[in-house]
Amino acid sequence: MSTARNLVILGSTGSIGVNTLDVVARHPDRFRIVGLTAHRQIDRLFDQIMLCAPNYAVVGDAAAASQLAARVKNAGRSTQILHGAEALEQVASLAEADTVMAAIVGIAGLRATLAAVNAGKRVLLANKEALVTAGPLFMAAVAAHRATLIPIDSEHNAIFQALPRDYAGDLDGAGVRRILLTASGGPFRETPLDRFASVTPEQACAHPKWVMGRKISVDSATMMNKGLEIIEASWLFNAPENRIKVVIHPESVIHSLVEYVDGSVLAQLGNPDMRTPIAQALAYPQRIDAGVSFLDLAATQQLNFAEPDERRFPCLRLAREALRSGGCAPAVLNAANEAAVAAFLEMQMRFDQIPELIEQVLGAIGTRPLHQLPDVFAADREARAQAAEWLQRNAVPGRNQRPQARAGAA
Ligand code: NDP
Repeated sequence: MSTARNLVILGSTGSIGVNTLDVVARHPDRFRIVGLTAHRQIDRLFDQIMLCAPNYAVVGDAAAASQLAARVKNAGRSTQILHGAEALEQVASLAEADTVMAAIVGIAGLRATLAAVNAGKRVLLANKEALVTAGPLFMAAVAAHRATLIPIDSEHNAIFQALPRDYAGDLDGAGVRRILLTASGGPFRETPLDRFASVTPEQACAHPKWVMGRKISVDSATMMNKGLEIIEASWLFNAPENRIKVVIHPESVIHSLVEYVDGSVLAQLGNPDMRTPIAQALAYPQRIDAGVSFLDLAATQQLNFAEPDERRFPCLRLAREALRSGGCAPAVLNAANEAAVAAFLEMQMRFDQIPELIEQVLGAIGTRPLHQLPDVFAADREARAQAAEWLQRNAVPGRNQRPQARAGAA
């Protein structure tokens, strides 16, 4: 038995965070939680502190931190409660931590994820937006600080498993022809296009195969999630855009594939449950029980595949264009998408307007070079300002009548 790993979970109250704690709880001898972070879900974080007794926990603001600190102290726990963006970076780079699960949603996770990389940690990367927005800087930091990066996204984790273990970013050297990313197609794969205008947030968040946070659920419904994943795969595996193919596979049993030059295609299969890639990454190179049900191929009976339809899902095209443009274009794409998804969830705009807003913002900002981190944040700010202007001009009157409840995590 190897020594226990000391783990920080950034975004512990979210869908990935909760699933990570579920796997960890099955192996108390293997993992010790040293840090947890949340943003607003203080009650859930309190319960996690009571269960895991981390050294540190981080919340979004000072008021929440002092309230939580009092509750934790009264309950007899010695966990230190911190707050704010700097505290996230501090906990991501704790000397006593060797492994960091990066599971904050959106660009909000970029600085803390990079802090873990800069501290040379073993980083389990769920926060795809960090890699999408700052890909070249992120990968340079991984190399410079000898961090270990293991993808959590089920598709990238599948590719990680199907590539040679010593793969170091040379597709040709490894005999790889293409990377094949599977996509379920989301809840609207077959919905008539003229119904897209009336899609509600609840419908968009009801993914047929996966239970996830609200933002990524909407991204799956527009297929921007797959677009972000193309960019993520490009950085993770040093693959040009034209060697990453998307295949629609509604059953979500094959999580992705690697096609080799000899005609072999290696795939990773399993039931759609994020605890599998999480357990794979937590224990790598060993294997541990993830608590998932095992795949019954005979009961599955059929696996279907189809080409993606970019007319139905223009976000796929927009993401490919942003990747080809390079520089800050993926950061602009990501910011415009985050703004659009938030506005859609708040019912300020229609579902079918999401790609329209993103395309407008990309066109308005054009290409910008990416040399350092401030370039990413400047592009992010400008894209959000452009998105806000677009919303002013195009807001759907009378739609923003009902605040959205936050969905429970998986
Ligand atoms: P959730 O929305 O369920 O959880 C997000 C987490 O981030 C929560 O802990 C939340 O805290 C925290 N958070 C939100 N905003 C901030 C902020 N501004 N500062 C600090 N923390 C913040 O998201 P998911 O778990 O679904 O996704 C997390 C990441 O993993 C995303 O990048 C997503 O794309 C990726 N991913 C998710 C998959 C899934 O199955 N869910 C699959 C593959 C990738 P609080 O709860 O307190 O608000």
